[in-house]
Amino acid sequence: MSLVVCVSIILGTWSLLRASLDMALDGVPAQIDLDQVTASLKALPGVEDLHHLHVWSLSTTETALTVHLVSEASSSGHETLLREASAMLLKRFRIGHATFQIETPGGAFPCGDASCGSAGSC
Ligand SMILES: [Zn+2]
Ligand SMILES: [Zn+2]
Repeated sequence: MSLVVCVSIILGTWSLLRASLDMALDGVPAQIDLDQVTASLKALPGVEDLHHLHVWSLSTTETALTVHLVSEASSSGHETLLREASAMLLKRFRIGHATFQIETPGGAFPCGDASCGSAGSC
């Protein structure tokens, strides 16, 4: 009987350990505060909202980010927005590998249906 209990504890612990390991590998790097990144991106001129913000480590020194930015800015303003957003991320958060998708408000992008399941503000 105690052997059965023992085995179930080991199995339970193992799955917990696996989950934490997965989170450690795929999760937001410890030195990055996702709320601060969200606030800083929203503070950029022209940004009304954002979603699908994902941040992860490429290596111990390189951080990658993807985000959808909702902006009224005209296409010519997008260039400026991309430049300001990448410069800010590099300077404030040392994120050097950022990818942006710019969407117009109310543009029928199907992003809302996507469930990411990982750390981020989807
Ligand atoms: Zn997402
Ligand atoms: Zn989107």
